[in-house]
Amino acid sequence: MSSSRKIAILGAGMTGLSCAHRLRSAGFEPIVFEKSGRTGGRMSTRLIENGFAFDHGAQFFRAKGNAFAEFVAELECQGYAKPWQAKAKSDPVNPAKPMMVGNGAMNELLVELAEGMDIRFRTRVETVRETSAGCEIQLHGSQDIEEFDVVISTVPVEQVRGLLEKQVDFLRQCSKVSLLPCWAGLFGFDEKFECGFDTWRHVNKDIGWIARNSSKPGRDISKDCWIVHASSQWTLTNLERNKEDIAADLLTMFASEMEIPLPKVGYADAHRWRYAQTSEPLGKPFLVNENHSLFVGGDWCLGARVEAAFDSGTAIAETILSRS
Ligand SMILES: Cc1cc2nc3c(=O)[nH]c(=O)nc-3n(C[C@H](O)[C@H](O)[C@H](O)COP(=O)(O)OP(=O)(O)OC[C@H]3O[C@@H](n4cnc5c(N)ncnc54)[C@H](O)[C@@H]3O)c2cc1C
Repeated sequence: MSSSRKIAILGAGMTGLSCAHRLRSAGFEPIVFEKSGRTGGRMSTRLIENGFAFDHGAQFFRAKGNAFAEFVAELECQGYAKPWQAKAKSDPVNPAKPMMVGNGAMNELLVELAEGMDIRFRTRVETVRETSAGCEIQLHGSQDIEEFDVVISTVPVEQVRGLLEKQVDFLRQCSKVSLLPCWAGLFGFDEKFECGFDTWRHVNKDIGWIARNSSKPGRDISKDCWIVHASSQWTLTNLERNKEDIAADLLTMFASEMEIPLPKVGYADAHRWRYAQTSEPLGKPFLVNENHSLFVGGDWCLGARVEAAFDSGTAIAETILSRS
C-alpha cells in the first residue's frame, strides 16, 4: 500500500479526524465526508449570534492511556485544550486527573486537527459496498459511485447498519453494540447568577448532569450559559417528543433543583442526541474486512468517551500504515 492510494473517511468527529490526522502525518491524503456543516460530531459547540455558546455534547475529557495523554498534552501546549477548574457540587469522578476541554469551544480541538484536510461538508454517504479492488461509496442525492482503495466508516453503529446493507458479517459482529440517547437542554441567561457550583453529576433520576458552560476556559463570561443533560431513562421515555416541550420541561426541572430563583432566560433550546453514549461496546478498536479495504470504527468499539474515539481512529490508521 502506498500513500497514493485513495482513502475515504466517513465522519469528521474525533474518530475520523484522529485517523485522518495520523494518516496525513505519514503522507496519505484521505478525503473526509461529513454529513453536517462542521467538524466535531458529538464534540459539538453551538454558537448563538448574541454571544451564548454551548458545548451540548461531550462536556470534558480525561486521558487514561498514554497515547491519548500525549495527544492532549500536545494540544494543551499549543493552546487548543485547557483544564476546566470547575467547582463541583457532587464528588468529582477522578479528581487526580484534570477535566480537559477545548479552549474557547469544545469543537475547537477538532477544527485545529482538521486544518489542511480535504473535508467534504454536507455530504452524506448513503451506502458503502465492497468490490474486488476496494470499496465504492454512493453519496446521498447522487447516482454517481466513487471508488476508493480503502473506506473507513466512523459513524455511530446504528447508522453503520444502514450504510453497510450487504456486509452481513460486519452487521452480525455489531449486533450486541448499543448506544443510549440523551436530551440536552441549552439555557442562556443575560444576567449571571451565583449558586456555588459549576458542575453537578447524577442530580436526580431524571437529570444526569448540570454544568455552567461559561465557567470553561476561554468562554464569554458576560453570558451565563448552562447545559442540562437528561438521564438516559428520562430521555428514552421522552425520546420522540418535540424539542420545544422538552426544553420547557428541562428548564422547569433545572429551576426546581437550584436553590435560588433563576433570572430571565435569554435562550432556551433542546437537542436530541439519538446515539449519545455507548452502553455495550464492541470490545475491540475496529472491524476490518479480509482484504483490508473496509474499516468500521468509532467510540462505540471501545467505550463511551472521547478517548475511545481517539483510540479507535488511531488504531485504524496504524493498521493501514503497518501494511503500507
Ligand atoms: C450528550 C453527550 C455527552 C457526552 N459527554 C462526554 C464527556 O463528558 N466525556 C467524554 O469523554 N465523552 C462524552 N461523550 C461521548 C463523546 O462525545 C464521544 O465518545 C465522541 O465524541 C465520539 O466521537 P466519534 O468520532 O466516534 O463519533 P461522532 O462524534 O458521532 O462522529 C461521527 C460523525 O459522522 C458523521 N456522520 C454520520 N453519518 C454519516 C454519513 N452517512 N455520512 C457522512 N458523515 C456521517 C456525523 O455527522 C458525525 O460528525 C458525550 C456524548 C454525548 C452525546
